Amino acid sequence: MRYISTRALPGAPTAGFSDILLEGLAADGGLYVPVEYPRVDASQLAEWRDVLAGDGYAALAHRVLSLFVDDIPSEDLLRACRRAYTAEKFGSPRIVTADRIGDGSLWIGHLSNGPTAAFKDMAMQLLGELFEYELDRRGQSLTILGATSGDTGSSAEYALRGCSRLSVYMLTPAGRMSPFQQAQMFGLADPNIHNIAIDGVFDDCQDIVKAVNRDAGFKERHRIGAVNSINWARIVAQVIYYVALWLRVTTDNGQRVSFAVPSGNFGNICAGHIAREMGLPIDALILATNENDVLHEFFSTGRYRVRASSEVAETSSPSMDISKASNFERFVFDLVGRDGGLVRRLFGEEITRSGGFDLSATPAFQSIATRYGFVSGSSTHADRVETIRGLHRDTGVLIDPHTADGVHVAHQWIGRVSAPIVVLETALPIKFAETISEAIGAPPPTPPRFAGIEDAPRRVVDLPNDADEVKAYIEQSEG
Ligand SMILES: *Cc1c(COP(=O)(O)O)cnc(C)c1O
Repeated sequence: MRYISTRALPGAPTAGFSDILLEGLAADGGLYVPVEYPRVDASQLAEWRDVLAGDGYAALAHRVLSLFVDDIPSEDLLRACRRAYTAEKFGSPRIVTADRIGDGSLWIGHLSNGPTAAFKDMAMQLLGELFEYELDRRGQSLTILGATSGDTGSSAEYALRGCSRLSVYMLTPAGRMSPFQQAQMFGLADPNIHNIAIDGVFDDCQDIVKAVNRDAGFKERHRIGAVNSINWARIVAQVIYYVALWLRVTTDNGQRVSFAVPSGNFGNICAGHIAREMGLPIDALILATNENDVLHEFFSTGRYRVRASSEVAETSSPSMDISKASNFERFVFDLVGRDGGLVRRLFGEEITRSGGFDLSATPAFQSIATRYGFVSGSSTHADRVETIRGLHRDTGVLIDPHTADGVHVAHQWIGRVSAPIVVLETALPIKFAETISEAIGAPPPTPPRFAGIEDAPRRVVDLPNDADEVKAYIEQSEG
């Protein structure tokens, strides 16, 4: 499989999977996508059903990935999948499971039983294995520099800990993460993991990362890279669990299923879109946002309007608090008939000039639900609290505030889209204890594997809000 940029003009060169694995944006500012999506049919799905039931999730992952990767030997790819998806890391040999809520249309697709209790582990664990493999093969090393307000940073650290060719420097806003999130990151003792608490807010951390990346000499010298959600390998790793969940909730290879997806940067649901384009029998892709509804606005009106950071509300589903959706360009590329020149105009010139674009009058947008299955909705803090409380009271099931966004919006679509509707669980309640207490009057139970996590010694250095200090710290640690 070859890859092109979403902003590629006709005749632009293509790249292989292992070329784009370690990269972020394409040189033209676009995002990498396959030149075409592989197609699967009912007999392929029947075979995958046997693979999942027999050899398990890692073997299924290998089958799905093989459609997208042809420049890593098959046995090496299988080994990476086996190392990424272990019962030890994911709490059970099944890795991904689905439970029906009562006897209704909704199911919860459990994706958050990985090391950091959020769905990001599903992709990040595989990314860590693939990074280490590729760096080994090339005899190279990489310094990952990132900024995080929670889930991404901890998931990356747990995936990359102990990798000899990688060091990780993760900037966090001092004192602003939940106690559980702090304990998770700062409790890691691996020497290649460096936590830096910046005296500032999340935007300051992000600005420092950008400033360091602007220093071309420093970037080159330390081989600075990133693991952000635009990385193609993260998206393709997520396609696997759509297949696995579809297999878990169906018995017949033609049955259509809908998915409800708590969304921020459009990474999770982008994988659903790709699975659907591949021919997985998905009816609706229900996109759920919180108060930061830039994506719900697009799917309901056709207008995409990037928000200023001052317009972004701090909500009780913080991992969905976004001003723009960094993976959205991948979907728009398909929507506009894979016209790289047009995507370049929309995401380049139009966003720069007018802060967004309007596709409401285009035939493509008017058929967005029938052709692509996309529908959407949003929730408020009160909706999430009520959803958590109601579900817990009526069924005993406890969900986190992000998953509650998904359940709330899924409820609005019952009867209008094919059932079952699988709501993707993007985090466990333990990560967001405060909102859970508000909803049910008691803190969430601590899963046994996280018991005592807040008592472990902490490894974190405090630095001022200053890119030069961060550079000096990296310089000194890397020697
Ligand atoms: C990252 C994250 C999301 C949003 O996922 P996207 O891929 O950015 O759309 C939702 N919920 C949780 C808990 C997350 O960590």
